[in-house]
Amino acid sequence: MQTGKIGVTTENIFPVIKKFLYSDNEIFLRELVSNAIDATQKIKTLSSFGEFKGDLGVMDVRVTIDKENGTLTVSDRGIGMTAEDIEKYINQIAFSGAEEFLNKYKDNASSIIGHFGLGFYSAFMVAKKVQIRSLSYKEGSSAVLWECDGSPEYTMASTEKTDRGTDIILYIDDENKEFLDQSRIDSLLKKYCRFLPVPVISGKEQEWKDGKMVDTDRDRVINNTEPQWMKKPSELTDEDYRNFYRELYPGQEDPLFWIHLNVDYPFTLTGILFFPKIKNNFELNKNRIQLYCNQVYVTDSVEGVVPDFLMLLQGVIDSPDIPLNVSRSYLQSDSAVKKISSYITKKVSSRLDEIFKNSRQEYEQKWDDIKIFIEYGMLTDEKFCDAAMKFVLVKDTDNKYYTLDEYLTLVEAAQTDKDQNIIYLYATDPVAQYTYINAAMDKGYNVLLMDGQLDSHFIGMLEQKLQKTQFVRVDSDVIDNLIRKSDRREADITPLQRNIMTTLFQSQLPKDDKVNFLVSFEALSPTDMPILITQNEYMRRMKDMAALQPGMSFYGELPDSYNLTVNTTHPLVERIRDKATLALSDKVSPIADKIDADNAKINAIHDATNGNKPTDEQSEELKSLEGSVAASREEQNKIISDYASQQSDVNQLIDLALLGNGLLRGEHLNKFIRRSVELM
Ligand code: ADP
Repeated sequence: MQTGKIGVTTENIFPVIKKFLYSDNEIFLRELVSNAIDATQKIKTLSSFGEFKGDLGVMDVRVTIDKENGTLTVSDRGIGMTAEDIEKYINQIAFSGAEEFLNKYKDNASSIIGHFGLGFYSAFMVAKKVQIRSLSYKEGSSAVLWECDGSPEYTMASTEKTDRGTDIILYIDDENKEFLDQSRIDSLLKKYCRFLPVPVISGKEQEWKDGKMVDTDRDRVINNTEPQWMKKPSELTDEDYRNFYRELYPGQEDPLFWIHLNVDYPFTLTGILFFPKIKNNFELNKNRIQLYCNQVYVTDSVEGVVPDFLMLLQGVIDSPDIPLNVSRSYLQSDSAVKKISSYITKKVSSRLDEIFKNSRQEYEQKWDDIKIFIEYGMLTDEKFCDAAMKFVLVKDTDNKYYTLDEYLTLVEAAQTDKDQNIIYLYATDPVAQYTYINAAMDKGYNVLLMDGQLDSHFIGMLEQKLQKTQFVRVDSDVIDNLIRKSDRREADITPLQRNIMTTLFQSQLPKDDKVNFLVSFEALSPTDMPILITQNEYMRRMKDMAALQPGMSFYGELPDSYNLTVNTTHPLVERIRDKATLALSDKVSPIADKIDADNAKINAIHDATNGNKPTDEQSEELKSLEGSVAASREEQNKIISDYASQQSDVNQLIDLALLGNGLLRGEHLNKFIRRSVELM
């Protein structure tokens, strides 16, 4: 028997590393099974080169639990190891590797969690004693038994073993008894070994017998050795992809699209990415892209490897080129990883382009579901954005879809304003903005539906990308002003009428600190609505942004400001105007004249001072004139509003306009209902 001391300088580092990695000690199984797979692949390679001439035999890897003896064994029929091999690979390399690893990460335990690098050594995280029983493929080899109890001392002796290959026997320690439980091992194997290239066997197939599930004598294969991503896309049908998705994410709705990744230069990468049908955010966090390294599961934290906007996708990426045993910040700056990320972006955009070109109808059907991915990508990734300009769609309020080019062609003629800007009208809520959408369609305009979560940002981005294009919400002004074809037509009312009508309407609007109305007059068409309430596009966007960005609270605190536009050509308005002029001229004219006269005097004094400080006498007079103007105004307001409050048609018109905008509430709504009943 040989005894020796393994090449570890730090005395007894086992307990240290055990504690270090306690939270993630389950990876030992992945490491041992991976080693077994490697050994199996190696013998296959040797055999194919003719360097191994014997019979390969059954080539599976077995994970066996022996509860009585408290052992977990990983067995393979790979190349095996001679005593010299063990001396070299286990005593020297494996342990020195582990030590180096420890030194590198001792201050940063969290960065190693879930990453490769521990290898065989990780067995000591769960075992108080480890044995290696191995018989090498090399002719004339004899079987060896290596044993180590976690101290740096080991023993090595010859043993009985007739099958080629290696058994790694773990004597599970008291704190880790869970690893002697078949269901715990099953779930670990499902997680890490699900797609390994060699059959992994653990436990027995079960069947239903006498009212319960019982073991059969058939071995249970845990893994799918030929996952779809390793196959050529040309060998796979749509149904194969869907089946693979179901295998990965059982119980999820079928994916919308998939993308098969397949490169071998300048890096090696395979994988399949799926566009999921998202129903809620919960599912998103649960079923993320999984990263594999030669079919071994590594992690599902793929930040940095996959471009941010594609984190919403699902599926598998497999690459031996992604450095796995490094920290995340290093990963993000790694040039291979950057190339991988930009490759994936390119591949996703070309695949979308292809689906768009080849099956437009299907693409449109799925658009509402994939829109969020594409808009998010365009907003966050310049390159993707440029590519996506060809296949991003917009939808109008009739549920028709257009590319940006198609849409431009559609609306260019009708929706170009006098300054040659092309105006894209949009609605965010087809029900609430129904009247405005209708008015725009009557005019021969098209209205886009922009009701997605990202649409307000998306609009901002399109305005920057597209030349001379402006987006205007359909309810942000009266229809003729949304797309101005000629200069504004002045409303034909006299100054006195304007004076009367402004107060007439203003005085009957609801008083509210949070809402401001500005009354204006325009000669629209007699068939347009008599009164229109609109909200300025710029102010609304500012307020929307303020709601999202704390730094802009100034805009957020401003009251909502609406324009109340009175259409002076509408017969009802004409009637109100004429009636009011008749009733109020006699009383209002003299007051208005007096205001004009007082104002003229005020101006004269200002002219006289010629920019200098007024004399005491002048100041006195200014004060009295200003007081007089204010008093006259008040008197005039009172006369007009007293009159206005009796005019049910004025109130009715205002309330109807408010109602159309969801602004009629509370007491005003109640009054409106009563008045309507009376009018009937
Ligand atoms: P790594 O696998 O990263 O090289 P390990 O510590 O896991 O590091 O293993 C060290 C070496 O021991 C391996 O490279 C391999 O040569 C050898 N080895 C480990 N397990 C087996 C096995 N089951 N069969 C044959 N050789 C093995």
